[in-house]
Amino acid sequence: MADDRYRYLEELEQSEKLDGENTKSGTRKGKKLTAEQKRKLRQKKKRKRMLAMVGRIALLLLIAAVFLVLIHTVMTRLGGTGSSASGSPASGSPASTVLPVESSKESNAPATETPAQAETPAVTETPAVAPTAEPVPEESNMVKTYGKWQYSTDAYAPEGDIVPTTYQMYTYDRMRQDIYFLMHRYSDYCEVVSLATTADGRDIVDVVVGSRNAKKDVIIQYTIHAREYINVQLGMWQLESYLKALKAGEYADIWSDLRLHIIPMMNPDGVTLSQLGFDSVQNPEILANLKTIWGRDNEAGKGDPDPAGYCSRWKANMLGVDLNRNFDVGWETTGGSSGPSCTRYKGPSAASEIETQALVNLAKNTNCIGQIAYHSSGDLVYWDYGTEGAMYETDSALADTAVGLTGYKKTSTIASDQNLGGCSDYFILVLGIPSITIETGDWYDWPWDYASEWDDVRDRNSGVVPALASFFHTL
Ligand SMILES: [Zn+2]
Repeated sequence: MADDRYRYLEELEQSEKLDGENTKSGTRKGKKLTAEQKRKLRQKKKRKRMLAMVGRIALLLLIAAVFLVLIHTVMTRLGGTGSSASGSPASGSPASTVLPVESSKESNAPATETPAQAETPAVTETPAVAPTAEPVPEESNMVKTYGKWQYSTDAYAPEGDIVPTTYQMYTYDRMRQDIYFLMHRYSDYCEVVSLATTADGRDIVDVVVGSRNAKKDVIIQYTIHAREYINVQLGMWQLESYLKALKAGEYADIWSDLRLHIIPMMNPDGVTLSQLGFDSVQNPEILANLKTIWGRDNEAGKGDPDPAGYCSRWKANMLGVDLNRNFDVGWETTGGSSGPSCTRYKGPSAASEIETQALVNLAKNTNCIGQIAYHSSGDLVYWDYGTEGAMYETDSALADTAVGLTGYKKTSTIASDQNLGGCSDYFILVLGIPSITIETGDWYDWPWDYASEWDDVRDRNSGVVPALASFFHTL
């Protein structure tokens, strides 16, 4: 018992030491303990042992953790001395999830190749499309466009003449249809180019008659002034006549040497407005703008309260710009209307209009050596735009050729004080290309009676196209 008690006291002291300051040491010393107290003390001691063991394990684990952290830090520091060593794990860990699989290489490869493949054709195509002053017969920038024009099944090519020989209001749609038929009948002699699409969505159609190997280009353009649309039919009729002659074997040497660019409707929006009125306008914003212009022109005393009457005298394009005042030649000093109007407004800036740009680009992108502009009216041929020397002589001879056939009056542009900014002014003064302007008909009072003069206009101008082509062929 004494040993047991002694042992118990030792154990008790031990447990009190472990209990620390919470134990009121000495209070129980020398006291005799009951069996129940001993049992409780043993249990308490057992719990304390367990707690002590858990504490030691926790401490060991903590020390081990700190040690591992220290080792890791040291290793990282040692590894960090090489930049590639720290870089490769960073980039390596995401890469390692993708790159070990071979298919990931394959999936990466197209991603880098696709843009390269997409860029290659663009780079090779650009030079082919880019305009060049050199005549390139095989791969020129001419694009056949007539194939996209579709007609109803009841549209058929006539047996005889395609273009009517008697006068009629010759519209944009009729022009396209007749060109479509001409292309099929005379496909060996000509092709069709759309020079541009206008603000209201119409093509500026250039019928090119001549070999792709030809060295020269000559432009004949009609109806840059909208209401002078009798000349659309004239241009189409002249075109068919020339094609017929070519097919019959005439002018073969001219065809091989010279490409004629016949543009029957240089201002298709304006012509359509003049012929068919406001209902023909396709773009609602353009229509709203036109009605504003109409109101302003009425206030200025140059309009007409009747919409059809107002549109019939329209000369500009559908944006109210007089194209024959829009060319970059003396444009700053050209007068006229102060804002968009049915006539005489030169535009917000020189060559601001699609139609103007299309004609200038055609001249610059081909080997253009001559330009003829058809207008109405006056029964005259304008020449003498202020040139001197050889150009003056050449232009005079060109005008003489037209005058000799038509019987129209040869008229000096300078002497008659015509405005600058015109197409022919630009061609001869800026581009150095001989040019004349032919004014058909002798109407003076509005409205013009086109039908009454059609036969005279047609007959006087019947030989002009081959004669002028011949002039430039032998120049
Ligand atoms: Zn005119």
